[in-house]
Amino acid sequence: MNTGDDGFLKEKLKECGYKFTGQRAAILETMLQCSGQHVSTEEIFNIVKLKHPEIGLATVYRTMILLDKLGLVHKLDFDDGFSRYELVKPNEDHTHHHLICSSCGSVSEVEEDLLDSLEEEILKKNGFLVKDHRVQFYGLCSKCRNE
Ligand SMILES: [Zn+2]
Ligand SMILES: [Zn+2]
Repeated sequence: MNTGDDGFLKEKLKECGYKFTGQRAAILETMLQCSGQHVSTEEIFNIVKLKHPEIGLATVYRTMILLDKLGLVHKLDFDDGFSRYELVKPNEDHTHHHLICSSCGSVSEVEEDLLDSLEEEILKKNGFLVKDHRVQFYGLCSKCRNE
């Protein structure tokens, strides 16, 4: 994905039969600003409305569902009552792993894929070819452990 490029979004929307709108572009732009973060719909809305007060929460909500469908963002569910989103990284064929602190709620990432050997084992034992997985680890982050 060519980040920060309206043309890319335009193409992607057209390809899937959607119209390119300034609101959609503004919301994607906000996600690009939040690259590497895991933001809730409300957080995205709070950032978007600084520059675009005409965009309502419902629009942000619907647009995030659309961007997820287009494969530009991932929807994340950390069982904390919020829907969160992150930008899909270029050339990422596997979803990375998330470390969720149950004390402060921070989310960090494990970049390397820890499950390759497990997937091989599943293929051998169960004859099941794993194509993707979602892994979330719950615990205490280093900051909270030191408190
Ligand atoms: Zn913490
Ligand atoms: Zn992530």
